[in-house]
Amino acid sequence: MPSVAIVGSGLAGFTAYQTLRRAFAPGEIAVFGTDADPAAAWRVRAAAIRQREMRSESDGHCRPTTFPGLAFSSVRRRRSPRPLLESAFNRYHPSVDEFLAHVERKREQSRWDESLVLRPVQRVRGVDEGFELDGDRFRHVLLAPGHPGLNIPEELGRDPRVVHSYEPHDYAPTVAVVGAGLAAATEWVNALAAGAEVVSVRRREPVRRPLNVPRPYFSRRGLAGFHRLAQRERIERLRTLAVPSYPAGERWDTPLEQAAREGRFRVGASLNGSAQVICATGFRRGFRHDPLLARLVADHQLETAAEWLVLDPDSTVPGLSDARRTLAVAGAPAQWAFPGADTLAGARYAAHGFLRRIRSCPTR
Ligand SMILES: Cc1cc2nc3c(=O)[nH]c(=O)nc-3n(C[C@H](O)[C@H](O)[C@H](O)COP(=O)(O)OP(=O)(O)OC[C@H]3O[C@@H](n4cnc5c(N)ncnc54)[C@H](O)[C@@H]3O)c2cc1C
Repeated sequence: MPSVAIVGSGLAGFTAYQTLRRAFAPGEIAVFGTDADPAAAWRVRAAAIRQREMRSESDGHCRPTTFPGLAFSSVRRRRSPRPLLESAFNRYHPSVDEFLAHVERKREQSRWDESLVLRPVQRVRGVDEGFELDGDRFRHVLLAPGHPGLNIPEELGRDPRVVHSYEPHDYAPTVAVVGAGLAAATEWVNALAAGAEVVSVRRREPVRRPLNVPRPYFSRRGLAGFHRLAQRERIERLRTLAVPSYPAGERWDTPLEQAAREGRFRVGASLNGSAQVICATGFRRGFRHDPLLARLVADHQLETAAEWLVLDPDSTVPGLSDARRTLAVAGAPAQWAFPGADTLAGARYAAHGFLRRIRSCPTR
């Protein structure tokens, strides 16, 4: 029986698997999940908003080390040094196709399918020297369940015109897009290109920044400052970081300005009579929406702060990780340890914390 388990077969679980493979054979790791393809959930969402380029840069990949990034493989494939030059200025964004081909390659090389157990885990319980996952015991467990479902504002729940941006859809002649983050910006531009008239319905002006959280939060120094914040300040900081944002650049501004001049794009406070309402309103937030995490918190009376599960800086669960066992969290529910947890870089951070803890365990 393997001693290490990952719960969640998405990109965060997959990235952790790549890191664990440095220390374990496929037969020593069990990955509990719902899809064999680690990009299954992501692929549908990216395709729904017709995303062609990654928001992340060269380091947005699933390998255990940042270097070499996707710019290197791109140089070979495109036979041009351009990706590396762009990467030096943080301007290189791999295409979605390049990223998905990378996932496919790593899936095969790492023998991911040999570790897969295709069934969801209902309950994780701390037991002596480990954890029980629906009856099976493991010494070290990483939880990577992803987001707990799509967020649709309550007042729009019954509106027949509504579709969520991460569900497959076409565009009606008149479209209202609710939200102001990257998904919303992508929808404005795509709906306009499809000939629609677009109203952007937003509560606040979006922040323009390249990554979903400011760059310092991906650095050791920035993180150290974040980890020093008192609980109340940390909650405030995470709320501030959650404001909608999308990158600056002509790619967005030019089509929007032109459409505004033609009277086809405007910002509005309400939905009015648009034929279609696209909710680019992201995901539900907080551990309470995820049955597995909610149950874990209740069973073990874990510490929480507002909607966050309180974690140690290395993304492990305090009280359930010690010299003999490890419970760690990766992906969106791990924001308490890493504000950009819902990124590939964030998944790598949690994976390294997990492996470090396992390695320090005398009876691993
Ligand atoms: C459209 C879009 C574009 C993005 N672009 C980028 C980008 O360019 N760069 C970047 O770094 N990040 C990007 N992200 C963010 C991030 O990389 C993705 O959200 C990524 O999918 C997160 O991986 P995950 O494994 O946490 O979640 P998911 O990929 O959603 O996977 C979670 C998996 O766990 C399974 N699961 C849940 N509960 C259980 C359970 N109890 N038992 C077993 N299995 C379970 C689910 O069924 C699912 O298969 C993007 C996100 C979106 C939505």
